[in-house]
Amino acid sequence: MITRVEPSGIILKDICEIQTEKCVAKDSPAAITAVWYSPGRKQVNVCRSCLDEMVRRGEWEVKGARLSLRPDITIFDAEGKIKLIVEVKKIPLTETSAQLRRATEIRRNLLAHSAIRNTPFFLIAFPDNFYLWKEETPDRDNKSADYHFNAKNTIKGYAEKHHIFPEEMSPQELELLVSDWLKDLVNSQGSEDTLEWATTSGLYDAIKDGSVAMNVALPEISHSLVI
Ligand SMILES: [Zn+2]
Repeated sequence: MITRVEPSGIILKDICEIQTEKCVAKDSPAAITAVWYSPGRKQVNVCRSCLDEMVRRGEWEVKGARLSLRPDITIFDAEGKIKLIVEVKKIPLTETSAQLRRATEIRRNLLAHSAIRNTPFFLIAFPDNFYLWKEETPDRDNKSADYHFNAKNTIKGYAEKHHIFPEEMSPQELELLVSDWLKDLVNSQGSEDTLEWATTSGLYDAIKDGSVAMNVALPEISHSLVI
């Protein structure tokens, strides 16, 4: 369920009430913005970092706001064009069907940003399942993923390399493992099943010899959502 929020325009110095792992106003007061929840217009004070994070998680939809998006991982091709945007989510959903639904929801919310809409590929990476969309036809925001990759063993393998225990890894560690996997893919060094999967979807050809960047800010785009 996505909550619609509306920035009040009020900026103050306070503790953030949302406190995601990316929070910048957790323990000491920093710049926060007051947003209104709908329905009921309940006010909540949130730092910019958490506001972005809540939108990226697909939990909030922001009315009439300008957001600078920082996808977890962005892949550019050799010419510097964005080919793939990756959102890494360490979510506690165990059922594949629930993960698929959640992935669709997260993507639909992010498509409100046209920078993401123009990306040829979009990937949501959960700890054990990856979902890939090939953005061939626009305006299919509710579409389920085109390709699914069972990533359990892949993540396990990369975790071992980094001496990370998959059961205890942090969201940042999962991002690191997924970006390692993508770096190998870009350099044609992935495992056989990875390469086969990426070739079938066309992803492999699109990102081959490209570059992998983490937390790069995309251009700000003013966005207004249809209510
Ligand atoms: Zn915060």
